[in-house]
Amino acid sequence: ILEIRHLSKSFGKHQVLRDIDFTVRPGDVTSIIGSSGSGKSTLLRCINLLETPSQGEIRFHGRDVAGRGVNPSAYRSRVGMVFQSFNLFSNLNVLENCMLGQRKVLRLGREEARARALRYLDQVGMAPYVDARPRQLSGGQRQRVAIARALAMEPEVLLFDEPTSALDPEMVGEVLSVMRELAAGGMTMLVVTHEMAFARDVSNQVVFMADGVICESGAPEQVFSNPRQARTREFLSRFL
Ligand code: ATP
Ligand code: MG
Repeated sequence: ILEIRHLSKSFGKHQVLRDIDFTVRPGDVTSIIGSSGSGKSTLLRCINLLETPSQGEIRFHGRDVAGRGVNPSAYRSRVGMVFQSFNLFSNLNVLENCMLGQRKVLRLGREEARARALRYLDQVGMAPYVDARPRQLSGGQRQRVAIARALAMEPEVLLFDEPTSALDPEMVGEVLSVMRELAAGGMTMLVVTHEMAFARDVSNQVVFMADGVICESGAPEQVFSNPRQARTREFLSRFL
């Protein structure tokens, strides 16, 4: 569904991503792990067209998304993203947050957008909070609303950039359990995370990045139990 081919990204002279190559098939849950500064967020931002790759291709259903004729907001409605810092609209309530993209990008009618928003808010356990403003919610609740907002676009792929890193420890579980349910339901997901238990138990593909390259990738059993690269072993040993 997504093919990343020879993707490189530089900011000025600083090369942040080098020759990144991997494939995401429908239903894959891919965890991207690696230390701070290894380029994980930049990779997701390239895939979401928030950054322009310096070289290489991102193909969605075989078509290069950097090409002309690809409308970024239409593409983002099919490849959605959930951010570490939620990025909810603070001036809108929970329901309105989940309706806005559907109205503006998908051009759905008010009733349809409302029905979809309620359905996905219910799925993440946030239906009782439709009238609340983001600031009235806990971090875990905000992130669940952000996930419902992304789901309401009915994307084919969801990208997550450290969705639990900004949360107090007691709220991490509620967000991870929503993500586990999504994965179990067959959603195609690409998740940058430091939650090694999630990466090991939920994903079927793990990509370990170091200094802007994919150092190692494979099935979680292989990467976690039998890493081939010394750098992978060294990185994982920090989580024991
Ligand atoms: P973390 O785990 O801390 O989130 P990361 O793996 O997501 O790290 P990135 O945020 O992708 O890493 O950053 C990779 C490198 O790219 C860093 O050295 C960072 O300083 C640099 N970088 C990222 N965005 C920009 C930018 N807009 N301009 C210049 N340099 C940038
Ligand atoms: Mg990051």
